[in-house]
Amino acid sequence: FAAAADSHWNDRLERVLEQKLSAPEPTSSIESCTIDPNKKTIVVLGSGWGAISFIKALDKKVARDMFNVVVVSPRNYFLYTPLLPGVATGAIETRSIVESIRRPIAEKGFKYYEAAATGVDAQKKTVSFTNRYLTSATASKWLPNVGGGDGEGGKHKSQHFDINYDYLVVAVGAIPNTFGVPGVEQHCLFFKEVAHAAQFRSQVNARFERAALPSMSVGQIEDLLRFVVIGAGPTGVELAAELYDLVYNDVAKTFPKRLLKHVSINIVDLQDRLLSTYDRDIQNYATDFFQKANINCILNTQVKEVKQCVLTVADKNTGEEKELPFGMAVWCSGIKMNPVCEKVMDSLPEGSQPSRRALLADKAMRVKGSDGSIYGIGDCVTLEPKAYPATAQVAKQEGYYLAERFNKAAETGNYAVLDDPNAEFVYTHRGSLAYIGKDAAVADIPGVTILKGIMAGLFWKSFETVSQVSVGNSFKVGFDMLRTRIFGRDISRLM
Ligand code: FAD
Repeated sequence: FAAAADSHWNDRLERVLEQKLSAPEPTSSIESCTIDPNKKTIVVLGSGWGAISFIKALDKKVARDMFNVVVVSPRNYFLYTPLLPGVATGAIETRSIVESIRRPIAEKGFKYYEAAATGVDAQKKTVSFTNRYLTSATASKWLPNVGGGDGEGGKHKSQHFDINYDYLVVAVGAIPNTFGVPGVEQHCLFFKEVAHAAQFRSQVNARFERAALPSMSVGQIEDLLRFVVIGAGPTGVELAAELYDLVYNDVAKTFPKRLLKHVSINIVDLQDRLLSTYDRDIQNYATDFFQKANINCILNTQVKEVKQCVLTVADKNTGEEKELPFGMAVWCSGIKMNPVCEKVMDSLPEGSQPSRRALLADKAMRVKGSDGSIYGIGDCVTLEPKAYPATAQVAKQEGYYLAERFNKAAETGNYAVLDDPNAEFVYTHRGSLAYIGKDAAVADIPGVTILKGIMAGLFWKSFETVSQVSVGNSFKVGFDMLRTRIFGRDISRLM
């Protein structure tokens, strides 16, 4: 009897499975069963500075009463980018500066899907998504296709789906810009994502381990330990500064001393000073500080081509070209439009988006040509008539501002609030900060003061600790800074 029952259930199970497998795959059905048709839908693309500020500032009422809020991003966490250089050298641990996007989403009753937008149809108000993604086209070679794609031997097909929106908030950031310089993608590391910082940390360590082998010649050691950072904006400067600290604080104590005299840290830029967007006084101070620390500042210099272990550079004034050998080169030189913004532009009426550099939006962040249904925040958008720099500070304030507008709509129960022609975002610049190494920093606090040196370093450390998006992360960052000061960086190579 037991055997007969078993075979009966097995047959039934097989039939059910067969039916399931032969049924057509749903395309976009999931959204229609989970989205409340009586509410308008806000779809948010991204989980970076702009998106997280928007999500956190949205009132719970927004989701409860008037809107379905759906967030979609290939990155299921927020990344606190200003401390990424610290992560690259082990001064700060990765987990201390990332925050799961699911926490605020769950608290507010929103939805989140881990996928990337691949297309936008502004006429049908639909966004297409896939979970087969890489975080950015130019970063692809450094980033594994985790989670997406036809994983586990093709058993899990990649998923494609559409979501309809009433309001679309595009906060997809930007991607590294090579400015068409040949060889950058092949021979340089980019520096924008957690994976880049991990790659940097691992490569630096691998180079010192290799250089320490007894069979290495002086020439080989010098080749290995020649680091070049291309771009002397805040990211490049902070990365070079952190590398300097790693070498002279930690490598110096743990690796053979003889290696130190063969280390060379170089920073290349087209401008005549480091941090060229900062106050002139700060530019001068930072440039002198680096030169005194023996970080080689190769200024007024344009990178023309990157080949294996060699940069071809040209003097900006004379045009004279020369070759600059390197062991490891990091490209920190600018950003360009995320390709998904082109899809948005292509679906808007002709002539509404004259530039291909960023989405053009009005003073209240409504993307031109979209009838107020598409908003752009952060690095992916340029506001008109007043454009703001591509910084976390701007993205954050834009996110807050936009959330306030949706909160107001929810408060008044009136969607028309969003169409207010007088609505205007006004950016307040709160200052610029950059770490320059040896516990020193530079800080330009508008209308208050300019700080340089160790005092500014203390200010920078305190500011970065308290500015985390959660109290938990503030504790972790503070602890990491203390740990690094007492015990030094962890310089073991795990990958
Ligand atoms: P991001 O924060 O880049 O977020 C973009 C989001 O969109 C990501 O979650 C990404 O996964 C997602 N996304 C990408 N493609 C898609 C897609 N197709 N579909 C859906 N989602 C997508 N600024 C400062 O003001 N101060 C600093 O000290 C500072 N330091 C920095 C240090 C480093 C190393 C770097 C790289 C940047 C730094 N910046 C700093 C700049 C700052 O990080 C950016 O200006 C800011 O991140 C822009 O925010 P955003 O929301 O526009 O984009």
